[in-house]
Amino acid sequence: MGNAWITDLRHFLTEDGSMEDMPKRARKLAEYFGRIVKGVTTRQRDDLATGVKCRKRFRHRPCPGEVIAFIDEQQSISWSCPVCKDNGMMSGWKGTIWDWSVNA
Ligand SMILES: [Zn+2]
Repeated sequence: MGNAWITDLRHFLTEDGSMEDMPKRARKLAEYFGRIVKGVTTRQRDDLATGVKCRKRFRHRPCPGEVIAFIDEQQSISWSCPVCKDNGMMSGWKGTIWDWSVNA
């Protein structure tokens, strides 16, 4: 079983919408979630691929999975890795620096 990450992306951002000053670890996580949002909002095809490599590592090797994601009925982005099952939900992504959708 992977961890379920419930994230509100606004927590990573300042009031003017740029990234908060935060420790490297938190920043890397924010950037990872941001890449998933960008992957979802820029993809052309109607499938689940995001082009984002899973961030998990096992025995010092990166997980070979690629994150899949979709926008659910609550307008949250639900994402998961098909290989290690790491997964989570993101809210608060609309209109952020990572949102590339035309309605942003
Ligand atoms: Zn994985």
